[in-house]
Amino acid sequence: MERTCVMLKPDAVQRGLTGEIITRFERVGLKIIGVKMAWPTKEQMEKFYPSTKEWLTSVGEKARKSHEEKGVQDKRDPLETGKWVKSVLVEYASCGPVVVLALEGNSAIEIVRKLVGSTDPLKAQPGTIRGDFTPESIVFADANQRATRNLIHASGNKEEAKHEIKFWFKENELFDYKLGGEEILYSNNWTKRKKT
Ligand code: GDP
Ligand code: MG
Repeated sequence: MERTCVMLKPDAVQRGLTGEIITRFERVGLKIIGVKMAWPTKEQMEKFYPSTKEWLTSVGEKARKSHEEKGVQDKRDPLETGKWVKSVLVEYASCGPVVVLALEGNSAIEIVRKLVGSTDPLKAQPGTIRGDFTPESIVFADANQRATRNLIHASGNKEEAKHEIKFWFKENELFDYKLGGEEILYSNNWTKRKKT
């Protein structure tokens, strides 16, 4: 079964959206195997988010796309944009308490990303967490020289998930139990009629 990591960022916690957001993961059938509240330090967030050239450049490219789609020219070098984003992101993620979850289920990484919605809340579809709960946008955040306040972090791939779960949880802070309805979600046998 696949595992993923979610972090409700300080704006989600301070707006009282913790329960609302966790409910979405529970109702889709994902199992909470770990949960904790913490107030991260800047140093922690530096290590939590990647620093590779590849990741920084991809963040910069995404920013350029968001600007161009709004008809705003973005002449910045994507790597430099990525470095700037990382610095403001570290400030944002450490400005208050966060709630972290480790979730487990089939295709957990992709399902969570689908429920979370696009990085730019302006592009996030209604029905997604970023689409439903914030009027934020990348262009607006950039104009205000701060990170895009998009409420939530979710692992983007298997490597991120592994790193992030290990970052937040010790082995004995992750729990194995049977979720109600688990057979209905995953077993082939649950519909078999008993012989009478
Ligand atoms: P995510 O996986 O959807 O969270 O997006 P990324 O991993 O690409 O970026 C990490 C976080 O940095 C995002 O969730 C935003 O909070 C912030 N961020 C990303 N791109 C930008 C940007 O272009 N401008 C600003 N101001 N913040 C950004
Ligand atoms: Mg990401």
